[in-house]
Amino acid sequence: MTDKYTAFVSRGWGRDLAKRLGLPQPVALRRYAADERLPGPALVVGSGPSAQALADALEGWGVEVRRDGADDGGASPEAGSDGARRPKLGAIILVLDDVEGPEGLSAPVLAAGRALRSLAACGRVVTVSRRASAADEPSLAAARQGVEGILRSLAKELRSGSTANGILLAEGVGADAPSVLGALRFLLSGRSAFVDGQFLTVGTDGGALPLDPDRPLAGKVAVVTGAARGIGASIARTLGRDGAKVVAVDVPAAGESLARVANEVHGTALQLDITRTDAGERILEHAVGRHGRLDIVVHNAGITRDKLLANMDAAKWDSVIAVNIAAQLRINDALLASDHFGDGAHIVSVSSTSGIAGNRGQTNYAASKAGVVGMVRSTAARLAARGGTVNAVAPGFIETEMTAKIPFATREVARRLNSLQQGGLPVDVAEAIAFLASDAAGGISGNVLRVCGQNLVGQ
Ligand code: NAD
Repeated sequence: MTDKYTAFVSRGWGRDLAKRLGLPQPVALRRYAADERLPGPALVVGSGPSAQALADALEGWGVEVRRDGADDGGASPEAGSDGARRPKLGAIILVLDDVEGPEGLSAPVLAAGRALRSLAACGRVVTVSRRASAADEPSLAAARQGVEGILRSLAKELRSGSTANGILLAEGVGADAPSVLGALRFLLSGRSAFVDGQFLTVGTDGGALPLDPDRPLAGKVAVVTGAARGIGASIARTLGRDGAKVVAVDVPAAGESLARVANEVHGTALQLDITRTDAGERILEHAVGRHGRLDIVVHNAGITRDKLLANMDAAKWDSVIAVNIAAQLRINDALLASDHFGDGAHIVSVSSTSGIAGNRGQTNYAASKAGVVGMVRSTAARLAARGGTVNAVAPGFIETEMTAKIPFATREVARRLNSLQQGGLPVDVAEAIAFLASDAAGGISGNVLRVCGQNLVGQ
């Protein structure tokens, strides 16, 4: 699971060689730490009330804020008024929610562009804009949709572990809504290290920011399926670190490692094959019986049984559908039928970039993972009626036991084919899930967040 190439090109003659040959030079990403800070001040570009609201919020979090009204004719953010050199910027927040037509993009976007050379390594660019809708006037829709093109291209231009992501506001949602601020905080932090070139849509003013940003899940009870190893174990650890009481679920055959993970996070283990018809009821019974409530369910358990479709048999096809999507649908039905899973409940499901872009030999897997996307979109309204949310994350190339088995040359290509030029870690998927499972994301539902370093496939 070690990425020897990254180690080789990060120092000495390996670094010089990679530079000379124009080879990828991935850097160690900035990941979450309790005392984590942005690597420099945040520049807020934009002059409207939303830009002011976001600047105020950043200052409230202790971030040093610079302002650029985008009409100063191009002052360099590297030099202060006294000509002294300023520290590199940790982030650029580009506020575009008041843009009315494509021509209006020019001043703020070019102002952000002028600041890019001052962005520190592992810095962040975040756009805040309105979601385009079919009801918009054509020129308004063009400007709003244009932001997506800008952001996705800009993310491909950044280097040194920096990322660019966007927050889309639905009509009527203010820039100071809790989930806008929650999303901004997530995207600026090391929790979003491997999220790049993506958008989070805030659909409502719902949600609440945590009292303690380092323990956003304090008091919550969370179930994680497939928690005995890999990404699931990392999700259990991350939710536990964020304050949740974790119920770790996996098949009885994985009992020993399941118990180890559950003990490590001071949670409980539930040996359960999620394809059992009563799996949802068993999960509710355990969570409510042992911990008094159930707030979060993470559908992570998944299997692959790859074959070209011409060689696919029913056993391979059916088992993948059964574990990866049919079980989730049945468990969700049980959760939604229960009074114990209502107000403020969050479901997060693990999809895959294979379900979005397709993958040779994975028609069954891609059917199940695209199915997760469909399920999330369709279930969002049902959960909204009870004050809950449902979202998916779609990991790209993640360094796990599964991907370690891919032949060397194929693996090298797969892991470099993204803007960050490296594979993600299980914790990167876990961090995105922990955010979507928190009340700070209460205004975000029906989203599919890719955790793929802006994989070039399917985007
Ligand atoms: P993994 O095989 O290491 O772990 C999956 C876990 O799910 C195992 O512990 C397994 O015992 C459990 N599980 C399988 N069937 C089950 C069942 N019927 N009931 C209960 N538990 C069951 O896989 P991983 O790499 O950690 O992947 C986790 C999730 O992420 C999966 O949904 C996978 O499809 C998805 N994913 C992984 C990657 C990657 O690069 N590794 C990429 C995209 C998506």
